[in-house]
Formats: sequence, structure tokens, C-alpha cells
Amino acid sequence: MFKLQELIRRDMDKLALNITTEQGKTLRDAQGDVFRGLEVVEHACGMATLQMGEYVSNVSSGIDTYSIREPLGVCAGICPFNFPAMIPLWMFPMAVTCGNTFILKPSEKDPGAAMILAELALEAGLPDGVLNIVHGTNDIVNNICDDDDIRAISFVGSNTAGMHIYARAASKGKRVQSNMGAKNHAIVMPDASIDATLNSLIAAGFGAAGQRCMALSTVVFVGGSRPWEDELIKRAKALKVNAGIEAGTDLGPVISRQAKDRIYRLIQSGTESGARAVLDGRNIVVPGYEAGNFVGPTILADVTSDMECYKEEIFGPVLLCMQAESLEEAITIVNNNKYGNGASIFTSSGIAARKFQNDIEAGQVGINVPIPVPLPFFSFTGSKASFAGDLNFYGKAGVQFYTQIKTVTQQWKDLPVQGVSLAMPTSQKT
Ligand code: NAD
Repeated sequence: MFKLQELIRRDMDKLALNITTEQGKTLRDAQGDVFRGLEVVEHACGMATLQMGEYVSNVSSGIDTYSIREPLGVCAGICPFNFPAMIPLWMFPMAVTCGNTFILKPSEKDPGAAMILAELALEAGLPDGVLNIVHGTNDIVNNICDDDDIRAISFVGSNTAGMHIYARAASKGKRVQSNMGAKNHAIVMPDASIDATLNSLIAAGFGAAGQRCMALSTVVFVGGSRPWEDELIKRAKALKVNAGIEAGTDLGPVISRQAKDRIYRLIQSGTESGARAVLDGRNIVVPGYEAGNFVGPTILADVTSDMECYKEEIFGPVLLCMQAESLEEAITIVNNNKYGNGASIFTSSGIAARKFQNDIEAGQVGINVPIPVPLPFFSFTGSKASFAGDLNFYGKAGVQFYTQIKTVTQQWKDLPVQGVSLAMPTSQKT
């Protein structure tokens, strides 16, 4: 892993260029994609302490018990399109450092970065057969779920695929950790720092063209959105939509024509059910890339929780604005949403922040932080409908996921044997 992290740094530009070419995000964002995965490789370098077992000597006279963590055997990972480097790096470095072999299925939409990473892993000295890449779609995934040799599956992607894989693999007795869709909310209090909050909303709402599972797609303005709208629109309008490869681009295209059509449809359904399109990014034309799947930054105001655009994950550069009279009402709106990947509050009040931290039902909480994804010594802790499984990705939970715990009870004592007892051993009888 030390060598792998060195090689990933060496080839950072090559990886980023591949991601931009296949996925569309900007080069700078593609570097971030690699970098956030690299952090997991660095975490794996120091993971030995997390694999340590526990030991109690003399649990009874002459008897010690200790636990050891062993590899599971063959593990597999199934990846989404939106982070072609980061998500594979959430998976195989942890799995192989725990002593497993790994079968990785990248997204069929952008498998190139996973191939480069696999080459780097070989160059770093990973033995042949330890990391294996398979390409394909549903049939390959179903085969992975059904295969008797595979013991555990890490999945990241949509809820439809994630719940299917969770159920199918679990019915074969496999462990599954499944990170899925999201609708991440920000609550903006009237006392929030104006400039910093606006910049956070713009960056987290429109970065990567909204195709991040931790994108801030919905903002609940306590006291109403009107005081914020003009400045929000101004800053969103200033963003440059262009091919990811072009200098100065803020937003690249979305992944496919199908994704673009779906985003358009959800914007349309929002306006038809009463939302105000205060900024409409549909029908944007990017000179030189007229056939590209671009969607410009879009802001829908007066959104309510019964609207389809609110209930569905849009996964595009669309920011929904809602309103609440109080922090309590805003928290209720967020908690009534089925997803629980992340939620943030923007405020200058410690009391409001603390109430939010305690009452909000989301796995990753930001306080004046728009995308609260922790570094890998914590875990990625999505919850509610955004996660299925018991053990999250990376950190301590990641090590537990990729290992089987075994406890050993040993007796070394130099006492005369006192005959046979068929009673259940207890501490008094040993
Ligand atoms: P997707 O579910 O379409 O595809 C993910 C993987 O599942 C791909 O490898 C694909 O081949 C496979 N797959 C898709 N449908 C399948 C089916 N019916 N049967 C078997 N396999 C199937 O997801 P996507 O569009 O690539 O990624 C976007 C989604 O991923 C969004 O919902 C996003 O929120 C989510 N995501 C979540 C996280 C997280 O950590 N929670 C991170 C990144 C992305």
C-alpha cells in the first residue's frame, strides 16, 4: 500500500485525465476523485493496529482467551459511475490489506480508472490473482451475488441495484455493505454567515454537476428563501458550464443522454406542481460541444415535500429550495425524508448547531460544512435508505467487514487430571 500510494501520486494526472474523458467531470474535480481514494490507501498503510485482536489471560485458572481477525477469502466490489477512482479505492485497498482477494466490477460507463489502478497495484507488487477486474452489467453482478466462493460484497450505487444486490447476496449467506442514493439537505438559519454559506451551497449543489452522493441537493431556509435567492442565482449564473477538459470549467456534462432527460423531466414535474424555476439550466448550448449532455445550474424555489422532484434523487445540478418557520420544523422536514446520507446546518449559533447535531437523522452531519465526508480513519456513515448492511465502508468498520473474528480459548496448566466431567465447563469446574 505504501508503494501503491506513491504510484497513484505519480500517475495522478493520467488518472484524472481518464476520469474527465470517460465521466465528464472537470480535471480539478477528477483529481479530487483520485485524492479522496488515495486517502483510503494511506489509511490502509497504517491499518495493522485495527486488525489487532483482544486478549484476556486467566479468564479461569490456567485458561486464556484471545481473538484474532482472519481474512474472509474472496470479496467483491460493484461500483457506480460517479467516482471512478475513489470508490474502487474505498474497496480493494482495505480488502487486500486484510488478506483477502478481490473481484472488482467497475461501472460499465467509465471503467478506465479502475483498470489503471489495477495496473498500478500490480506494479506495486500485488501478487497475480489478488485483484481481479470483471466488466459487465446486471448478469455479471448477479453472478457475483450467486457465486459460492465470494464471501462479501461491497456495493455503491443506486437504491434499485443496491437493494437487489443486498437481498440476493444475503440470501446466499454473504455479507453486504451497500451505500446507495441520497437527498442531502442543508438547513440555513437566518444568522448564517452570508458569503460562506452561499459559496458552500453553490459548490456542494452544483459541483460535479450534482452527481455526488453527498451533493447538497435541497436547502431548507428557516425564515424563507427570498432573502437569499437573488445572490444565489447570481453566483449560480456565474458558473461556467463546459467540457471538463476545458480550462475554467465549473460544471461538466452529466453522464448520459438518459440522465439528462431524467433530470429535465424532474425539473418539469417540479414546475408543473408549483415550484418556481428561479434559474432554469435546461436547453443550455455549449459552443463546440453542441451534442453534449449538459444541464446548467438550476434552482427551484417553493419546493414542498410532496413533489416528485423532492422525493426522487435528481442526481444533477438542481438545487431545491424549501422553507420552514423554525429550526424544529426544518429538522422535521429533513427527518421525514427517507434518505440519510448527509445533512448540514449553516448558522452562527452553537445552540442551534447542537440541537441539529442531536436531532437530525442523517449519518454524516455538517456544521457550517457542506459535504461532511470524514477522513478514512472514521467510516463513511450513511444511514436510513442510503445504506444497507451493518458495517460501513473503511475505518474500523471496514476492517471488521473484511475480516472474520475468531476467538481462541487455550489451557496450559500443570495440574493432575481429576477424572472426566460431562457437565458444561464453568469457571469453578475448570
Ligand atoms: P447504478 O446503481 O445504476 O450502478 C451501480 C452499479 O450497479 C454498476 O456497476 C451497475 O452495472 C450495477 N447495476 C445497475 N443496475 C443493476 C441491476 N439492476 N442489477 C445488477 N446490477 C446493477 O448507479 P450509478 O448510476 O452508477 O451511480 C449513481 C448512484 O450511486 C446514485 O444513486 C448515487 O447516490 C449513488 N452513490 C452513492 C454513494 C454512497 O456512498 N452512498 C456514493 C456514490 C454514488
